Amino acid sequence: MPGKLVVVSNRIPTGAAPSGGLVVAVHDALRGSGGLWVGAHPDPAGPGDDGLTEIARDSYTRCAFHLTEEEYDNYYLGFANSVLWPLCHGRTDLVEIERRYEETYLAVNRRVARLLADRIGDDDQVWVHDYHFLPLAQELRRLGVVARIGFFLHIPFPPLGALSTLPTPDDFAAWLSAFDLVGLQTRGDTARCLEMFRSDPRAEFMRDGTVKFRDRVVAVRSFPIGIETDAFAELARAPEEQAALGADMGEKLVIGVDRLDYSKGLPNRFRAFGAFLDDRAPDAPRASLLQIAPPTRERVAAYRAIRTELEEIAGRLNGAHSELDWTPIRYIHHAVDRAVLAGLYRRAGACLVTSLADGMNLVAKEYVAAQDPEDPGVLILSRFAGAAEDMTEALLVNPYDIGEMATAIATAFDMPLEERRARHAACLEAVRETDVSVWASNFLSCLSTCVPTMRMPERRASAGPEMTRPVEKEPS
Ligand code: ADP
Repeated sequence: MPGKLVVVSNRIPTGAAPSGGLVVAVHDALRGSGGLWVGAHPDPAGPGDDGLTEIARDSYTRCAFHLTEEEYDNYYLGFANSVLWPLCHGRTDLVEIERRYEETYLAVNRRVARLLADRIGDDDQVWVHDYHFLPLAQELRRLGVVARIGFFLHIPFPPLGALSTLPTPDDFAAWLSAFDLVGLQTRGDTARCLEMFRSDPRAEFMRDGTVKFRDRVVAVRSFPIGIETDAFAELARAPEEQAALGADMGEKLVIGVDRLDYSKGLPNRFRAFGAFLDDRAPDAPRASLLQIAPPTRERVAAYRAIRTELEEIAGRLNGAHSELDWTPIRYIHHAVDRAVLAGLYRRAGACLVTSLADGMNLVAKEYVAAQDPEDPGVLILSRFAGAAEDMTEALLVNPYDIGEMATAIATAFDMPLEERRARHAACLEAVRETDVSVWASNFLSCLSTCVPTMRMPERRASAGPEMTRPVEKEPS
């Protein structure tokens, strides 16, 4: 009899009816198994409360743990977002090493493990999300949890050399090896993770492609995440949302939608749009860039710096190119309702995704899903976004090459209808193949086939045959 599903994620929905692709997919998976979802409480800590607070219960239970202000600063803003985030996004220059960050990160994971351990049965499956909880399985194992534990990393897997930036670099592989399954966004991420294990003397490769690390065995696989494709397309078709959109955005509209993060390549995107404006013919139709980018993590210095930089570039370009009745760059600093966003995507003739590093990039998938297949817009997509691995018919660009991006904007606006349709159809197929419901069920069914190390035959009696025999290199 299979047990329940236990999900751990930093964010947890507090409302009665969860919305948003990932949240809905996890919600559906939990409903099927009557499970438990645990995450950080969105409000600052309740006084002295270090237990779990139930925040919702229907066919499964949602519980939150509280972070003190100090924990929020050191664990969330500190180790998670000033060490792991820049490290995984190729910005080791922004990594801030502080002992208290690492200590608090480990302490929070230890506490969450203590809160969870008694609630996890041997036949349950535990699904841990993202870089906030890398050491969680190791802590749960220390407390005797033998259930299958899977991990999914929503951000890029760091290159081998960058791991040396961590205060204790050897811990990273040890943390991951306490899971039974490590899920990553792309084949490139999987290759980097396996490279880390391959270069570690504590690891050896098994005949079935799993990694034996000391006394544990872990599988590493890619599970590209997507969106709720049909639901998003439906949202974009809603006529009332179309009517609400401003009519004065110029004849040609290119859209960008991002959290204001240094990994998204926004300054170069603005510069590329400026170069496109410089190069266009005087009688060409007016073109506008609509950039929606609400600031995040503003207590981290690097996020304040990117905001200042971007405002300065937008101001300079608008000063140079605006006319009395037209502003070429519209830069909106707040979140936009999803239905309005879907309508804006459909209205835009092109979408710019110019990440310097990105685990997947769901905006790229949303833009494609929102298009009218008969008259679709063109996706301009960074080669460094995970989405580029499968969306090869987008206009792929190097986000460091401003001239190439400027040319891509012009190419998108001038692209013949037949080519737009063909490229869109190919991209849409890739979006459908990675629909978020497919992603969740693939991950969970793969986790269910993992043989937990604690229950391997050699643990119970003598060594088992296949799983303990190392091979020279992993099979293809
Ligand atoms: P990341 O997870 O790094 O923020 P993704 O592109 O993978 O980047 O996902 C971003 C999600 O947040 C998308 O679903 C996108 O629609 C949403 N989003 C980003 N910016 C805004 C905004 N200004 N208003 C509404 N939704 C937004």
